[in-house]
Amino acid sequence: MKGKVNALKKKLLIIEDNRDSLELLIKVLRNQPYHLIEATDGEEGLKKAIGELPDVILMDISLPKMGGYDILKELKKREDCSHITIIAVTAHAMKGERERALEAGFDGYISKPIDVHKLPNQIEYFIKNKKSGKQLDDLESF
Ligand code: MN
Repeated sequence: MKGKVNALKKKLLIIEDNRDSLELLIKVLRNQPYHLIEATDGEEGLKKAIGELPDVILMDISLPKMGGYDILKELKKREDCSHITIIAVTAHAMKGERERALEAGFDGYISKPIDVHKLPNQIEYFIKNKKSGKQLDDLESF
């Protein structure tokens, strides 16, 4: 019975090198129906993405060893990763960063500081959007 319940949980990989940000994400998402996996640098993140084939990835852009855009590029080459909803979570306050992320192929974009109350809904929204094949231009801004 327990196994069946767990099978309904989505696998969510968090790639985040900042300890405080990682802990906050885990705290917010722990009580949601996700099986959480963590990685704290880009190489580990890519390895876990390929090995675990999660349903969703929350990915920091600025990461040691391998940046978020490079991880995305590698995952986009792989047929077995094409189902993954890949969401950029970034503090880049630079104008146009959201557009750049979506143009690069991220399925969603969340800017830091994250809104702990909105986060679960934001994640589900981006998953739903990817499944429906909506154009990125149609994505609402959060
Ligand atoms: Mn970082």
